[in-house]
Amino acid sequence: MKMEIDCIFCSIYAGEIPTEFLYSDDKCFVIRDINPVARIHLLVIPTDHIEYMNDSPDMVKMVVRDLFSAAITVSESEGVAETGYRLIINQKEDGGQEVPHLHMHLLGGELLGSLD
Ligand code: 5GP
Ligand code: ZN
Repeated sequence: MKMEIDCIFCSIYAGEIPTEFLYSDDKCFVIRDINPVARIHLLVIPTDHIEYMNDSPDMVKMVVRDLFSAAITVSESEGVAETGYRLIINQKEDGGQEVPHLHMHLLGGELLGSLD
């Protein structure tokens, strides 16, 4: 597994920062966002430290199934599969990415604003 010593998400997966795991396996894990912007705000995170999608296309292709599969699983366990949700991946500066370890936001539990 590719891990980065100073990465907050790598540290969480390694158990160095006590955090509830809603889902976890050797490919990805799901936690609640510490600063939620919706009633349900989860982070679906690959266990491998992938910084930016464009720098690691092969690793992204390997893990994309697992990320979507985990998103489907937690959408059901968190009760938003029926009402709906939004998936967001922020990339680099213009995308507003704060943590340089690939992750997918899963937002739901309320009516989300439109994108325009
Ligand atoms: P980004 O802006 O990189 O797409 O999203 C990073 C997200 O990680 C932010 O929404 C932020 O609130 C969340 N976050 C940052 N540090 C932590 C942490 O230590 N624990 C958890 N659970 N979420 C975090
Ligand atoms: Zn990392």
